Amino acid sequence: MRDQYQREIDYLRISVTDRCNFRCRYCMPAKGVEFVEHSEIMTYEEILRFLRIAAGTGIRKVKVTGGEPLVRKGVCGFIRKVRNIPGIESVTLTTNGALLEEHLPELEAAGITGINVSLDTLDPEKFHQITRCDDFGRVWSGIHAAAQTKIPVKVNCIPMKGCNEEELAKIATLAKEYPITVRFIEMMPIGMGTGYARILQDEIKELLEDRFGTMELVDEILGNGPAGYYKIEDFKGRIGFISAVSHEFCESCNRIRLTADGILKPCLNFESRVNLKEEMRSGMTDEELERLLKNVIYHKPRCHAFGDETKKDIQEKRRMAGIGG
Ligand code: SAM
Ligand code: SF4
Repeated sequence: MRDQYQREIDYLRISVTDRCNFRCRYCMPAKGVEFVEHSEIMTYEEILRFLRIAAGTGIRKVKVTGGEPLVRKGVCGFIRKVRNIPGIESVTLTTNGALLEEHLPELEAAGITGINVSLDTLDPEKFHQITRCDDFGRVWSGIHAAAQTKIPVKVNCIPMKGCNEEELAKIATLAKEYPITVRFIEMMPIGMGTGYARILQDEIKELLEDRFGTMELVDEILGNGPAGYYKIEDFKGRIGFISAVSHEFCESCNRIRLTADGILKPCLNFESRVNLKEEMRSGMTDEELERLLKNVIYHKPRCHAFGDETKKDIQEKRRMAGIGG
């Protein structure tokens, strides 16, 4: 359905867990965090019930994310069930990649339509500094194994000044060697991501063009949302940019979110008090839930307010892992 600003909302991002096997500096504190009690996490059955209702309002694309979705037991079986919901056309996964290789056969069998792997560096030492764990080898082999399947693969990298800026061209070469889309995603000032110095899209594009030649904007739909994609001669894959802050794309935003503990969020940037899980557990009927969802979609904020000091009190204060990135 359309919201009050005539945007077609057809994409739902679901965080299936707030837990993670990594501790990325921009996402979680070193000592971990107080995780949500198991009983407060949406069960798969609850999410599936909600998804059947959401498909009826026009949700067509689903992203399974986290925390780390592959640490939640039964996630491949859940994905298979989501694939089978009438109206749902694609189900993609965002993962840190450490457990990817072992899950690939099950993910393929479940009918996953795309896998995004987050990777900010190709240097195992730096990988340890960023993620506070030593799984670079597993992530690397996960990406290679996924590239051998028929599943479309994207690698998502957050460029950070003073951290991985020297490596961006090298990371982009993954798209030269494999039919993988490499996307540079701007750090958002949310949760522990505040205080990082961003590298702007135009700077990265210039750097890549110096190295690889002209980048030509392509008119292909390669993702669920508003990313700009480019092709470079001799590259098997594409290069993409998602720059929510410097190239704000709220006008064409098509997504809503469901957090691991069941909060329905129409915008990443704003706090939401719509507790879907509580409503379900207190006996709301499907018709009532549909009305609730339609109301949330209709009132989706016109735009995020990153950097707007006057809206600080209503902005999201949770960590990314609970919201799902
Ligand atoms: N654990 C999985 C992973 O890392 O891909 C899925 C969840 S993670 C929260 C989803 C994505 O959000 C990752 O690509 C991560 O790099 C990104 N992310 C985390 N904090 C961010 C921030 N402040 N700004 C932009 N992206 C962020
Ligand atoms: Fe875990 Fe993903 Fe957050 Fe890193 S970005 S700590 S892998 S949820």
